[in-house]
Amino acid sequence: MRRVLLVEDEEILAKNMAFFLNREGFEVDVASDGEQGLHLFQQGQYDLVLLDWMLPKIDGLTLCRQIRQWSDVPLIMLTAKGEVMDKVIGLEVGADDYLVKPFHQRELLARIHALFRRQEKRERESHQRYLRYEHLVLGRDQMTLRCGEHSVSLTVNEFKLLDLFMRHPEKVFSREDLFDHVWGTSVAYSDRTVDVNISRLRKKIGGLAGQNFLYAVRGYGYRFGGKP
Ligand code: CA
Repeated sequence: MRRVLLVEDEEILAKNMAFFLNREGFEVDVASDGEQGLHLFQQGQYDLVLLDWMLPKIDGLTLCRQIRQWSDVPLIMLTAKGEVMDKVIGLEVGADDYLVKPFHQRELLARIHALFRRQEKRERESHQRYLRYEHLVLGRDQMTLRCGEHSVSLTVNEFKLLDLFMRHPEKVFSREDLFDHVWGTSVAYSDRTVDVNISRLRKKIGGLAGQNFLYAVRGYGYRFGGKP
């Protein structure tokens, strides 16, 4: 079931939208201000964000920017008629689409489905900018790893290792495979180099997430994810 985060401070509207989207087969979490919206977004994994423009605590524009630092989740901005809303600004900060209130629920649904189709097309066409495993998000453009509201920068070698692991969760890689992937075949192979870098990566992931997900396979290599 697709999960929707709805950030909307108008209680009745939020209730109606959640009811309608539920009926259409979505699971909906509602936040009534920007701060709560950001919190929910960082904790959960959402397939779509519906974001009101004018919100208490953190406004929709700021929240949209923050979400876009970490996610390319489809996002529709909602705005009331008469609110100062610039479509260009909304799209510039990364909203995929916007709707002016009051809108028809069918219109909302049509926009949502159009976004999902676009996203599926994009994902087929290009490789993703973010890799996810449980609460970990690897930002591939920034070489940064995030968990909830905390993040850590990775070195090029740590990034190459983790990127390989996260693209193949639970797959066992030999030390030689890992070495070739990161350092190439032009450098003399060394077990020690792999182990040292895995150990640093473990510390970073562990410090961030409370567990490191990297498991040694005795006498062979390592895997990421799955049961310890
Ligand atoms: Ca509002």
